[in-house]
Amino acid sequence: MKKIVVLGGGISGYGSAVLAKKKGFEVFLSDMGKVADKYAAILDEWGIEWEQGQHTMERILAADEVIKSPGIPEKAAAVQALRAQGTPIISEMEFAARYMGKARTICITGSNGKTTTTSLIYKIMRDAGFNVALGGNIGESFAYQVATGEFDWYVLELSSFQLDGMYDFRADVAVLMNITPDHLDRYGYCFQNYVDSKMRIIQNQHSLNYFVYSADDEVIEKEIASGKYSMRMRQLPFAAKAAVASGAGDAFLVDGEFTARVGEKAVTIDTAKMKIKGLHNAYDAMAAALATLAAGVAPSVIEQSIYDFSPVANRLEPAGEIGGVLYINDSKATNVDSAWYALECQTRPVVWIVGGTDKGNDYTSLIPLAQ
Ligand code: ADP
Repeated sequence: MKKIVVLGGGISGYGSAVLAKKKGFEVFLSDMGKVADKYAAILDEWGIEWEQGQHTMERILAADEVIKSPGIPEKAAAVQALRAQGTPIISEMEFAARYMGKARTICITGSNGKTTTTSLIYKIMRDAGFNVALGGNIGESFAYQVATGEFDWYVLELSSFQLDGMYDFRADVAVLMNITPDHLDRYGYCFQNYVDSKMRIIQNQHSLNYFVYSADDEVIEKEIASGKYSMRMRQLPFAAKAAVASGAGDAFLVDGEFTARVGEKAVTIDTAKMKIKGLHNAYDAMAAALATLAAGVAPSVIEQSIYDFSPVANRLEPAGEIGGVLYINDSKATNVDSAWYALECQTRPVVWIVGGTDKGNDYTSLIPLAQ
């Protein structure tokens, strides 16, 4: 029997272990830290062998294939040992997609705006009455949902770490919001390594698939023009600066209004009527409109759903007003670009409270906004 080892017992790991068990593999889950009680209970319920606080290397090295949780870095000793002996290491997405049958995926990545765009796309799909699940970096484990549910669509938020472990996976609709420096500490302080990882969102796409991307993002534009990718899919660019037309469809923001068009179907949105504010949220809404038009949602549903959508918690979320001072919780702005957009769209004088751990970024672009 094929032996699967799952490294990491968090949301991604426990779901992968359950799916592997259901598919009849011999499964062993190992976590260097502590497995949360709720996941431990599910592993026991499914009769899955697991350990915590250690890695029993001989069992790990005996695996035919390893599913690695995105939080475990490449430099971890167990990962290095597996690489040295050539054991295939994949992500939860790669594994679960093998068992998803005819279901289709909308996959969202980018340095910023993933959660907002993913949540908006999921809302639109639900409002349209689609049988849809939410997974990846957000919501329930994708693999667990494949193991226990029957869905027609999966909306998946993908980090670069998940993309790194994806090889044969093919997104039906791929969405790439932007690429700006982030997580460089895990990419050998080399931006191109991180760019390559993000571009994996379009790997294996063919002419019936869609690629929604920011045409204002110079890094993405340069990658597309590089000739490195087959680009056989239908391209759906969105922009507020560099307008580009595509035969398959596009979206362009002019004077606070955009029309997103895919084929014959189009939706026009007045961003002043949206509850999520700022240029960055207009980008997120354009991407969501294009992705859901591509999935076949009616324009009228998309329009209503976008206008109804409220900010996701911790993303420029108004936290209350005291004595004329508005407090905004933007604790999810964890890199330079997201902080830039947050400061750029403020209409009142700002006291900026900031902190955290340096991930190897250049902060100079923030200086003009913080003087
Ligand atoms: P992610 O999941 O990629 O971290 P979020 O939707 O959680 O993205 O947003 C993270 C931060 O980035 C928030 O501060 C948000 O205001 C900001 N943001 C959202 N969309 C964009 C965008 N398109 N470009 C730049 N920043 C954005």
